Amino acid sequence: MLYATKSISIPSDFRKILSVIRANMEDKTIIESDYWPDHLIINDCETPFDMVTGKGKPLEEVYTYYFECPKCGQLYQLFCSTVQGCKGKWRPLIESDFR
Ligand SMILES: [Zn+2]
Repeated sequence: MLYATKSISIPSDFRKILSVIRANMEDKTIIESDYWPDHLIINDCETPFDMVTGKGKPLEEVYTYYFECPKCGQLYQLFCSTVQGCKGKWRPLIESDFR
């Protein structure tokens, strides 16, 4: 599931994706990445993923997180806004994202 783009349209989609991410972080299939696109830098002290998605944590308004495969360096982005419903996406970043 990690390798494909996955849309989030309802809260249960988001919860499902969070649990897949957490499981894959536990077995080190992916790690949280230091990557951050230059044009999106708004603050550089984002709360670590672990701290905002633990059990019983209230929903944040916006989630933007980057992960990477420690073996090949493939980057992934999790984006989700919970302001109006629950809209977002999990996706692998591709070459054109870096231009
Ligand atoms: Zn890889």
